[in-house]
Amino acid sequence: MGAKPQEALKALEPWINKHRRTAWRPEVRSDDQAAALSAFCGIPSLQAGEKWPVCKSCGDPMEALVQLDLSTLPTDRHGTGLLQLFYCVAGECEGGWEAFSNQTCLCRIVSPHETAPAATNLNRFPAKAIHAWTAIEDSPSAAEHERLGIKFDYHFNDVPFHPMEFWCPELDLHFVGAEFIRYLEANVSAADGDKLGGWPPVGPGRGVSCVSRMRRGDVAGHADRLRRQRAVHVRRLRRRSHHAMPEPSQRRGIRLGVWLRE
Ligand SMILES: [Zn+2]
Repeated sequence: MGAKPQEALKALEPWINKHRRTAWRPEVRSDDQAAALSAFCGIPSLQAGEKWPVCKSCGDPMEALVQLDLSTLPTDRHGTGLLQLFYCVAGECEGGWEAFSNQTCLCRIVSPHETAPAATNLNRFPAKAIHAWTAIEDSPSAAEHERLGIKFDYHFNDVPFHPMEFWCPELDLHFVGAEFIRYLEANVSAADGDKLGGWPPVGPGRGVSCVSRMRRGDVAGHADRLRRQRAVHVRRLRRRSHHAMPEPSQRRGIRLGVWLRE
């Protein structure tokens, strides 16, 4: 096809729309943090007599990175209760990289009726209360396009040279040229940053299920293959790039994703 990349994207719209998901961005503010049941680094609710969770590796109190009042989320698919993610930001604790290990983190759902906000705040970071959610439209990352029906041929080893190409068999579309692939990858991709639901930002060549490279405090209700797992799943992975971030956990180059079973 002699189309431009923009026209290719237009032609691909039925496929793009089919895989579009709604995600929600948290709107945060730093005032009135104590009253918020949904917050980043706010006061977590603890059971009566319960001590603030500590890291099993270093023994330091973990940061209450995020607490969400599930009953107030913009979707009702997550049930009720308070989802909490505690995470060690104290040192260079390297244990607990496996899912469900709860070695250097604790992810759980507690009942708001059986808990009360902790009397003392042991968080290091300032709280950001989540007071609203803004819906956005989210698309799958480039690494998931193939799984979702786009066929690529990069011709890396072809002699003589062949330009890269891709197909969308279900729409009977075929595009030749690296610029088409670049444009597709740049414009049909998962939104980065904190969000609820939508698609996880997945790196090239990685599978979807275990790989969500999200920033500290990201919460993804999206589950995909993980929805079959009957537990809350926490996973952290090193980021490839190193951005200047004010908080220690981000300087350590870690993103967090939380998936809830559906
Ligand atoms: Zn630790």
